[in-house]
Amino acid sequence: MTTLAILEYPDPRLRTKAVPIDAVDDAVRRLADDMLETMYASRGIGLAATQVDVHRRLLVCDVSPEHNRPVVLVNPELVLREAPAICEEGCLSLPGIYASVERAQTIRVRALGRDGAPFEMAAEGLGAICIQHEMDHLEGRLFVDYLSELKRQLIRRRLEKERRQRANTGERSARATVT
Ligand code: ZN
Repeated sequence: MTTLAILEYPDPRLRTKAVPIDAVDDAVRRLADDMLETMYASRGIGLAATQVDVHRRLLVCDVSPEHNRPVVLVNPELVLREAPAICEEGCLSLPGIYASVERAQTIRVRALGRDGAPFEMAAEGLGAICIQHEMDHLEGRLFVDYLSELKRQLIRRRLEKERRQRANTGERSARATVT
């Protein structure tokens, strides 16, 4: 397995709309495994293919406390969204940035699994928020898009400053639990 490079905001490639996956073959499974490894290595709870510059409809997540319940969703579709909830989110493509976003507290999603078989799953709380966040990535949407233009500009400037500092010191900043 390989750890993949994660695109960071405001990289325009994060705005690409992902295309459906025709068949879950070995290449798709390998990508899902690499994405899981990348997500765990970055201490994230979710990752969309868009974030590793692959513009196909695939996401992975694991919100279990032991990080041992990986979920792979190919061509995910929301079939139910219920109960709005406001929750603080982060994103591996926006290191160190957190903001409150309104999502559905309970969802039902239909997808193909790692084995290519269709299935439906219910998710609530953190799991539901994570899946909605990752599905937004597949549309080229980021959680900062829910904020005001002013806030987004401040975040952009802060990230650019931090990236320059990182480049100067040759260090990478520590990351908290983010998706
Ligand atoms: Zn994200």
